[in-house]
Amino acid sequence: MERTRDVLEQDRRTTLERLAALTGDFERIVDASRDSNADDEHDPEGATIAFERSQVDALAQQARAHLDEVDAALARLDDGTYGTCERCGGAIAAARLEARPTARTCVTC
Ligand SMILES: [Zn+2]
Repeated sequence: MERTRDVLEQDRRTTLERLAALTGDFERIVDASRDSNADDEHDPEGATIAFERSQVDALAQQARAHLDEVDAALARLDDGTYGTCERCGGAIAAARLEARPTARTCVTC
């Protein structure tokens, strides 16, 4: 189980770094849009910035959601429920946990 914790902690760090990079990107795009006429929907550059913002925002949301999953998996490691299916209470196959350490349910569920 300690190896699983290492994998999850590493995943957590990687996700935090990705989130920091995305947030930096996001702020850079917001700054860039402040300097231009981004409110004008007829301005093609404004539309591009709006698109970039929504893309980065979606990626940041994904990263945050993944971070929640990793934190939840670490919490399950702490309380001893890690590897137990949330739905049927059965054991989650080791191979599945290997492939997806944040899995909450077994293959059947
Ligand atoms: Zn199950």
